[in-house]
Amino acid sequence: MPRATYEEWRADPENADAEWQDFAHCIDKNPDLFFSDKQEDIDAAKQICRACVVREECLETALTSADGLYPPAVWGGMSPRELKRLRRQRVLAKRSDMI
Ligand code: SF4
Repeated sequence: MPRATYEEWRADPENADAEWQDFAHCIDKNPDLFFSDKQEDIDAAKQICRACVVREECLETALTSADGLYPPAVWGGMSPRELKRLRRQRVLAKRSDMI
């Protein structure tokens, strides 16, 4: 049986025979680009992310993972530094909501 298409998964992720990672645009790309600390590799990885249909899901996973996704990598079209900054902003926003 063929796996769910992206559209089927989006319509009903709970019942589709797929995970968001199955639609990752980076699935057949060089992973070294995503785990590199060289700016040219990071830029190339972010370029790959721009065409990814599950960028939103990927970014949310990176921002909500308990381990901070170590080792650092490009996720959801953002560099490790950008992800760190966004995670920090979310923590601060959550704290200010609690006051
Ligand atoms: S957003 Fe980027 S890192 Fe995330 S699954 Fe897509 S291509 Fe891969």
